[in-house]
Amino acid sequence: MVAAGEPWDEVVAQTIQEGLAGVECLSGIPGLAGATPIQNVGAYGQEISEVITAVHVWDRRAGQRRVLTPSSCAFGYRDSAFKRDPEAAVVLAVELQLRPGGDATLRYAELRRSLEQGGRPSLARVREHVLALRRSKSMVLDADDPNSRSAGSFFTNPVVAPSQVEALVEQVVREGVVDRADAVPRHPTEDGRVKLPAAWLIEAAGFRKGDRRGAVGISSRHALALVHHGGGRTGELLAFADEITARVRERFGIELQPEPVIVGEPWAGGAAKR
Ligand SMILES: Cc1cc2nc3c(=O)[nH]c(=O)nc-3n(C[C@H](O)[C@H](O)[C@H](O)COP(=O)(O)OP(=O)(O)OC[C@H]3O[C@@H](n4cnc5c(N)ncnc54)[C@H](O)[C@@H]3O)c2cc1C
Repeated sequence: MVAAGEPWDEVVAQTIQEGLAGVECLSGIPGLAGATPIQNVGAYGQEISEVITAVHVWDRRAGQRRVLTPSSCAFGYRDSAFKRDPEAAVVLAVELQLRPGGDATLRYAELRRSLEQGGRPSLARVREHVLALRRSKSMVLDADDPNSRSAGSFFTNPVVAPSQVEALVEQVVREGVVDRADAVPRHPTEDGRVKLPAAWLIEAAGFRKGDRRGAVGISSRHALALVHHGGGRTGELLAFADEITARVRERFGIELQPEPVIVGEPWAGGAAKR
């Protein structure tokens, strides 16, 4: 059981030290353990929901403690019952079932490629590689790295019907965005739909890493991270996010959704007049 106030990455480091597999790919995600169920944090082929066996909460409406089963948390891709109803519960602790002596999860192609040599990688080696990959995309907090002044990924990867992917592929090949159909990255999901990388869509719509709008911009290392360069305001950031959302919708008919919970400003989703 992990208390909500534990720094998440320290928890991951400790599980690896103890030879427990199950969260090694979630290395380097900033924040506290209690936030991990909220958006079902995930990275490099793992999601926290795969190992959660119970979530201890303070039920704010009933005014009492409760222990929730994973099914009542309704976990989805970057989603959960907590995210959909933020007033309902405060997470107090999470129970995880990890695998003593278990193998690391190597589902993510980029991670598999970087670990190809040397046989079965240790959990520690996987953690090192995940941290190195994350650093190369400025996805670990680092005061010296201006590209890490972000909320992480700003958009979730859209999950769409296969027919929409076919139309997208036909369009981008016809328009010369890519030279062949298999150059469009896509990942089938268990429910028969297809997950498209939002970063790819953003670049295919004509944005470039490093594009700026005044004090805010796209990270020069990762098209999915919106960064501020000092002195930026939330309104400016959201206006740029609106511009990106609108262009992706106009070009491809695909709707991008923000991953962070936006507080105090309405999310206009590409239709804003800010
Ligand atoms: C550089 C960077 C990289 C990132 N990479 C990833 C990634 O790879 N994968 C990923 O999934 N996320 C990623 N994130 C997002 C972020 O790290 C996670 O969402 C993390 O879980 C947030 O933790 P926090 O403690 O900072 O929560 P906060 O940002 O403070 O809160 C997030 C939301 O959860 C709610 N919340 C927090 N704690 C509780 C609680 N105990 N009970 C009830 N509600 C609560 C808050 O009200 C808020 O709505 C990244 C962020 C950054 C800045």
